[in-house]
Amino acid sequence: MNCPTCPRAGLPCLGERLPHLCTKANYREYLQGYDPGSPPTPTFLGMATSLARAAVAHVGDGMRIAPEAVQEARRAVCEACPLWNAAKDRCSRCSCNLKIKLSWASSACPLDPPKWTAV
Ligand code: SF4
Repeated sequence: MNCPTCPRAGLPCLGERLPHLCTKANYREYLQGYDPGSPPTPTFLGMATSLARAAVAHVGDGMRIAPEAVQEARRAVCEACPLWNAAKDRCSRCSCNLKIKLSWASSACPLDPPKWTAV
C-alpha cells in the first residue's frame, strides 16, 4: 500500500519494510490515520543531519545555554507555529527535540526567514 503522496507510486511500498527509509517518512503516521494537512516528518537521514549540524554548532559555540527568558520566548513562538508537533514536542521541519533545541544558545529556527535566531 502506498501513501497518497508517495513519489514511488506503482512501485512496492518502501515504508512497509523499511519505514525509516521511506522518502515521505510518513508511513507510520499514515497507518495511524493519515492527515494530509499535518506537517511532514523529516526522513531518518534528515533528522540525523539536522542533529549533527546543531550539535557541531553547539560545541563550536562553547556549549552555551540560552537564558531562561529566551527559552520561554522561543517556546511561545514554536507552540504557536503550525510546524510544532505537540505530541512529540518536536519541530516538524528539522525534527529536533524542542526541549534541547530551545535550550542551546546557537540554535535557530530552520525556516527562511527564521522565526527566532541564535543568541
Ligand atoms: S523551530 Fe521554527 S519551524 Fe520549528 S516549530 Fe519552532 S518556530 Fe516552527
